[in-house]
Amino acid sequence: MTLATLKDVLQPALKQRYSVGGLVCLGWEDMRAYAMAAEAEGCAVILQAGPGCREHTPLPVLASMFRHLAECVEVPVVAHLDHGYTVEECRDALDCGFTSVMFDGSRKPLQQNIEETAAIVEMAHKSKASCEGEIGFVGYADGENSAGTDPEEAAVFARETGVDAMAISVGNVHLQQDTGDGLDEAGIAAIQALTDVPLVIHGGSGVSTAQRKYLSKNTNICKFNIGTELRMAFGNALRAAVNSDPERFDRVAVLKDTHDPMVAAARKVLRDLKG
Ligand SMILES: [Zn+2]
Repeated sequence: MTLATLKDVLQPALKQRYSVGGLVCLGWEDMRAYAMAAEAEGCAVILQAGPGCREHTPLPVLASMFRHLAECVEVPVVAHLDHGYTVEECRDALDCGFTSVMFDGSRKPLQQNIEETAAIVEMAHKSKASCEGEIGFVGYADGENSAGTDPEEAAVFARETGVDAMAISVGNVHLQQDTGDGLDEAGIAAIQALTDVPLVIHGGSGVSTAQRKYLSKNTNICKFNIGTELRMAFGNALRAAVNSDPERFDRVAVLKDTHDPMVAAARKVLRDLKG
């Protein structure tokens, strides 16, 4: 049993200068591959259930699957709710057995974001779980624009909420299918000069592997969320599996073919982050 909280895995990452992958899960096949990849690499992994995942599979089922996978491996596994938008959603996740929740109040005015996040941090800590907050706004490719994180606001946010990790907006964008323009390293430096909370990059797929490696080793960024890159790998593996045999109709047989490519893709991601 190696179930861990976000704090359990990010504090060592902060001190020893590496990052942990927050891998976005959509179902059993990918989360199992991610747990096996972490085991093979000998590093921690954060299994994340975001809004799309929760729309497809009920929260208690996801919690059980994450916790089961934690029992199957020797490395630390965090059962993390990604982008919870309400206190109820975060409370439900904690009640189901998630060990970490991200509350996303980033579309709200600063004071409201601080107050609501602080209440969820308190609730999470009472459940012996962790809480990640977001300050500034990380936008979406072909969607809402980003609002960069102000270092002074980030310092106030970290101090007044007591979050275990803080997602920041420094040029990162969700859902990018290609590498973007690169993150604002001066902006990251300005933020970490004012707070020592572990920093999180959402939209990690749009960050080059070279910059992921550099930032993991040289800054307080301790968690990269990787979704799109792995969903593309899964889609490609699934398409190849379906097309490889037109006679085949059993979906377990088809999905089995996605396992090895997904383990390989996740191992590559985790290896680059762990330094
Ligand atoms: Zn995100």
